[in-house]
Amino acid sequence: MLQPVEVERLLVIVAHPDDVDFGSGGTMATLTAHGVHVTYCIVTDGDAGGSDRAMSRAEMASMRRKEQTAAAATVGVHDLIFLGYPDGRVEASLALRGDLSRVIRQVRPKVVVGQSPERNYDRIFASHPDHLATGEATLCAVYPDARNPFAFPELLEEGLEPWTVDEMWIAGHPVMTDIVDVTDNVDRKFEALRCHASQLPDPAAMEVRVRQWMAATAVAHGLAEGRFAEGFRVLRLV
Ligand SMILES: [Zn+2]
Repeated sequence: MLQPVEVERLLVIVAHPDDVDFGSGGTMATLTAHGVHVTYCIVTDGDAGGSDRAMSRAEMASMRRKEQTAAAATVGVHDLIFLGYPDGRVEASLALRGDLSRVIRQVRPKVVVGQSPERNYDRIFASHPDHLATGEATLCAVYPDARNPFAFPELLEEGLEPWTVDEMWIAGHPVMTDIVDVTDNVDRKFEALRCHASQLPDPAAMEVRVRQWMAATAVAHGLAEGRFAEGFRVLRLV
């Protein structure tokens, strides 16, 4: 079981507003309750989300930034970085790797929470192409780019020294190696999820589904009936 007190400083990198809240919102609430400093880096503004064709995409982007900012606050996260890449068109490009390396060197986290670069055929909606691309670029930025002084030398010119991330926790991966018991903070996770109102046609059905995932994860990892957990594939990188 992952222990919050040892984390100290954590950076989440995800493709869209709401991704962190579905996969890891309970973990974020649990970590911040233990004094961990958490920063979110959201690669796109989720401007391709929703189904209201009357709403301009710029309005959707602005609404989703506001929703994510409110959701973050409910789980104790107040530092958010929006990179503004176009939703639905994320690639694991050198440009994105450089931007994520910059963020890692600025934030200097012990742990990075990211998305899976591998498609999970059992949970295909978690394997959106933007998630796969963001997961791949995140892993490349964590190792080797952010720690290598000769990768993206322009970052050194910006005064950003190399930074070694100790662990990456991959959410939504088919193989979960570690879990966080989020039972005590599960209500805050749902409060955060409900902040994404523009994306939730049926919040009650969402809550039932997400509770089932978390209960199944808890039982599969040996927690008692009635507990809730979020799972990660943890890579130890030092
Ligand atoms: Zn997403």
